[in-house]
Amino acid sequence: MSDLTYIPYGRQSIDEDDIAAVVAVLKSDWLTTGPNVAEFEAAFQAYTSAVHAVAVNSGTAALHCAMYAAGVQSGDEVIVPTMTFAASANSVLYQGATPIFVDVLPENLLIDPEQVRAAITPKTKAVVAVDYAGHACDYVALRDICDKHNLVLISDACHAVGGAYNGQPIGSIADMSTFSFHPVKHMTTGEGGMITTDNATYAQRMRTFRNHGITTDHRQRAKTGSWFYEMVDLGYNYRITDFQCALGQSQLKKLDHWVSLRQTVAAQYDAFFADFPALQPLGLSADVKHAYHLYVVRAEDKASRDLYYAELRKQNVGVNLHYIPVHLHPFYKSRPETRPHQYPHAEAAYDQILSLPIFPGMVDQQLIDQVLDRIRSVVTAA
Ligand SMILES: *Cc1c(COP(=O)(O)O)cnc(C)c1O
Repeated sequence: MSDLTYIPYGRQSIDEDDIAAVVAVLKSDWLTTGPNVAEFEAAFQAYTSAVHAVAVNSGTAALHCAMYAAGVQSGDEVIVPTMTFAASANSVLYQGATPIFVDVLPENLLIDPEQVRAAITPKTKAVVAVDYAGHACDYVALRDICDKHNLVLISDACHAVGGAYNGQPIGSIADMSTFSFHPVKHMTTGEGGMITTDNATYAQRMRTFRNHGITTDHRQRAKTGSWFYEMVDLGYNYRITDFQCALGQSQLKKLDHWVSLRQTVAAQYDAFFADFPALQPLGLSADVKHAYHLYVVRAEDKASRDLYYAELRKQNVGVNLHYIPVHLHPFYKSRPETRPHQYPHAEAAYDQILSLPIFPGMVDQQLIDQVLDRIRSVVTAA
C-alpha cells in the first residue's frame, strides 16, 4: 500500500510568478513594512469589497487585532462556537476577556443563532462567527441579534476567503472579518493574516495595535522627516514582511481560479456521496457560495469513523479531523466557564467527522478518482 502516493488534506500552490515576486522584494530596499504591504492590503480590500484591509503576520494576530479594535477587555464575554480552531477563542483570552462557547447546527456545524441569543448576558461584547469549512454562517440572523444587543460581529473567515453569502463577498459582511494565509488555507504568505472592515476607527486602531501601539509608521515619519513617534496603547509586533505581501499579491491573483478548482473537487465528492450512505457530506445552503477550505463528511458512528480514518491513512489518504471542539481541550476544560456535555451537536460531530483531501492541485493531478477509489475499497471492506 505504501506504493500509493500520499495525498494530503491540503497543499499550497506556488508557481514561478510567486517566486519571482518574492525574489524581487528580497533584492529591494524594504524587507519588512514597505510598499508591498499597502499594495497587498489594497488588493485584498478590493477583492473582498471591504473598505479597509489591515495585514498582519498570522490569522491569530488578525483575531487578536479584531478583539482589541472591538474594545474587548477584562470583564467582557465573547460568544464563540466550540467547533473551531482554538485561536478563535484564544484571541478573546489575550484581551483578558472570557470566551463563552456555544453549540453549532447539526447540519452544517456553523454557529447556531438561537444558541447565541441564549448565551447573551450584560457582559457580552462580541460574537465570533466561524465560517466553518468555508460555508458562510447565517449572517442575517447574527446581524439582527448583534444589532439588537449592541454587539460587535466578528467573522472568523479563515476558511472562507473567496466565498459569498447572499451574493455578498466574505470579508464585507461582518463588522470585522479575519483571514489566515497559512499554507493550508486557500492562499498563502507562509504565515500571515488580514482583517477587513468598513469601519475607519477599527482599521486605525488595528494599524496601531499591530505596531506596538505606536501611532505613526516609519513611512509617515520619513515623509514628515521627523524622529517623533508616540506609543499610545499597549500593542504587539504583528507586522507582516514586505516579501510575504508580494507573495500574497501574487497568490491573490489566482484565488478565484483556485476556489473554482476546490468547487470542482467538491462537486465530484458530492456526486459520489449522493449514493454512498456510509459517509455523508455536510449541508449546503442555497444562498451560499462555499469556498471549500475543507470537505467534511460524517460517518454513522465513532467506531466506523475511527476505522475509516485508520484505513484511509494506511492507504495514504491524508484524512484529518476538524476539529476537536475547543471546550474539550485540557486548557479549556479546566476553566470555570466551560461545560463539557453542554454542546451535544459539536460533541456528536466530533465523533463522526472526517476531512477529506481538497486542494486545487487535485484537479490537474487527477487525484480525485484515486481518493474515491480508496474510500470505496476501505468502506466496502469494513
Ligand atoms: C487557520 C485558522 C486560524 C488561525 O490562523 P493562523 O494564520 O494559523 O494563525 C484561526 N481560525 C480558524 C478558523 C482557522 O482555520
